[in-house]
Amino acid sequence: MALSKRSTIRQHADRSVPSRAAEILARGTVAHVGFAIDGQPYVIPFSYHYDKAAPDRLYLHGGQESRALRHLASGSQVCITVTLLDGLVYSRSALYHSMNYRSVVVFGTAREVMDRSSKSCIFEQMTRRYFPGRTLGRDYQAATPEQLDATALLEVAIHEMSAKVRTGGPAGPLDATPGAPGTCGVAPPPLDLHPQEQEVGSRDCDTMPR
Ligand SMILES: Cc1cc2nc3c(=O)[nH]c(=O)nc-3n(C[C@H](O)[C@H](O)[C@H](O)COP(=O)(O)OP(=O)(O)OC[C@H]3O[C@@H](n4cnc5c(N)ncnc54)[C@H](O)[C@@H]3O)c2cc1C
Repeated sequence: MALSKRSTIRQHADRSVPSRAAEILARGTVAHVGFAIDGQPYVIPFSYHYDKAAPDRLYLHGGQESRALRHLASGSQVCITVTLLDGLVYSRSALYHSMNYRSVVVFGTAREVMDRSSKSCIFEQMTRRYFPGRTLGRDYQAATPEQLDATALLEVAIHEMSAKVRTGGPAGPLDATPGAPGTCGVAPPPLDLHPQEQEVGSRDCDTMPR
């Protein structure tokens, strides 16, 4: 996929890994979807579907009344970011605190998928991506035609995308000096210390193991 100026990583160009973009999108869980309406930018989080076998397409879905989806269905430009946080990097120097990450920025345009069987197929693949091991017909029932019609599915044609990865420890001037004052290292991504309580709807529902 050819990259234009808008997709060329200037800052830390050494962290540019375009060949890993598909792999990162296939592992991500949340897409931040950016678009502008009348000059006002919006960035809205969505779940999404992406399959490395069809690397130039990404899918978004939601209620038919979603402003974001209605706007994007008209074919306007969209910018989508997916980020995997790998670690918190702490340094002996304030300036060199950082994060380890894998991230992708996608530029494209969307169209609405209208055909019910295509929608059903993408939704099943998407459910499998988020919940591997769950089987249609055994663990959950397929969406009805009415539910499919009430749900908008957008196929984003990816025109270009960039990927950037930071790995390793802190790069401060004191971080490679054993015995220098302070501490340095890489901490795992933080778990939310005050997670929202997970409610299950009925006593028959399990909490899925992590
Ligand atoms: C979790 C996380 C935390 C970060 N925290 C900071 C921070 O606190 N401060 C900071 O300055 N930077 C941070 N970054 C890096 C930030 O995303 C930008 O890469 C950096 O700020 C350079 O921005 P720029 O607009 O000058 O990029 P440019 O290099 O000018 O961007 C040009 C093009 O490169 C691509 N690009 C830029 N950044 C990324 C990216 N991260 N992933 C994929 N493609 C990209 C896009 O296509 C963009 O249009 C963070 C990144 C992540 C993933």
